[in-house]
Amino acid sequence: MSRVYNFSAGPAALPLEVLDIIRDDIPDWEGTGMSVMEVSHRGKDFVALAARAEANLRELLSIPADYSVLFTQGGATLQMSMVPMNLAGPEHTADYVISGSWGKKAAAEARKFCTVNIAADASDEKFTYIPDESSWRRSDNAAYIHITPNETIAGVEFHFVPSGDAIVVGDMSSTILSRPIDVSRYGVIYAGAQKNIGPAGITVVIVRNDLLERAPANLPHLMIWKSYAESESMTNTPPTFAWYVADQVFQYLLRLGGLEAMAEINNRKASKLYAAIDESSFYSNPVRENCRSWMNVPFVLADASLDAKFLEESVAAGLANLKGHRSVGGMRASIYNAVPEAAVDALIEFMAEFERVNG
Ligand SMILES: *Cc1c(COP(=O)(O)O)cnc(C)c1O
Repeated sequence: MSRVYNFSAGPAALPLEVLDIIRDDIPDWEGTGMSVMEVSHRGKDFVALAARAEANLRELLSIPADYSVLFTQGGATLQMSMVPMNLAGPEHTADYVISGSWGKKAAAEARKFCTVNIAADASDEKFTYIPDESSWRRSDNAAYIHITPNETIAGVEFHFVPSGDAIVVGDMSSTILSRPIDVSRYGVIYAGAQKNIGPAGITVVIVRNDLLERAPANLPHLMIWKSYAESESMTNTPPTFAWYVADQVFQYLLRLGGLEAMAEINNRKASKLYAAIDESSFYSNPVRENCRSWMNVPFVLADASLDAKFLEESVAAGLANLKGHRSVGGMRASIYNAVPEAAVDALIEFMAEFERVNG
């Protein structure tokens, strides 16, 4: 077997320890004589798995008791519709902070359901910064304010939570579980699984219970958060295998020491990679230092004509998926929880050697 270091932005690396457990579990899961994919989601074994996954996620994120944890399908993208569907109507205004491509998508989706006020927009500087909160133009009675705490493509991250009493909604797809957060500062947190939770196909929504009451009754059943809250997310057949893997990842994170431990590792990984980029004149990262992402590190080579060579040689060196997003160009190293520190060390070493030969 040969595993590469995988810097994919998503679907992304999973911990090898978890993959080993999955492989061993497949033919006979927990003594059932079946794989987890072959059992009823309403049977006692799977129901126990679902309860354990929720309890472990609650422990990892210290989710307060007055929040529901929902497991849905449709990815983070469907939540971009479900947020306005459940929280706002045509008579309402919702504030959006556009710090990257995902926030822009979320705002475009919300316009179908309510009035959208763009409180701040960093597209003027190609999403390389988070506009200072003092410059935001917020509405007086916003149904909520939507932020993207980590913009996966540009690699910009909020290192604060917006102030004030408005309900904060956060698309945490690419930052959830990377460090402790104060869930009580948010009304809603949503995250597609395929970056830091598990495989694609399952989505986590954490929603304060009073907000479950706002949805109009005529929404389709599967678009109503409360349907999931009332059915333990068994509104219809859930993506059982993805849920099982997420449960394994949560257990793995708890074994590692929870999110304090992850934060220490992630901070170290990101710091040394940014330091290596900043110390060189061959590589650069355009994002302002106070909002650089811990999870997605884009960088460009001073000479873009070397990009293809860099990518080819990095693949040969066992470093996969470093190509930057097409809208940004250059490179991007996604260094999610499951990307080991040794992978970051190997990348830094490769970058230094490539610079030595080609710089
Ligand atoms: C990947 C990503 C999405 C899209 O998620 P899907 O699950 O594919 O819908 C949305 N927002 C952010 C911040 C992401 O990183």
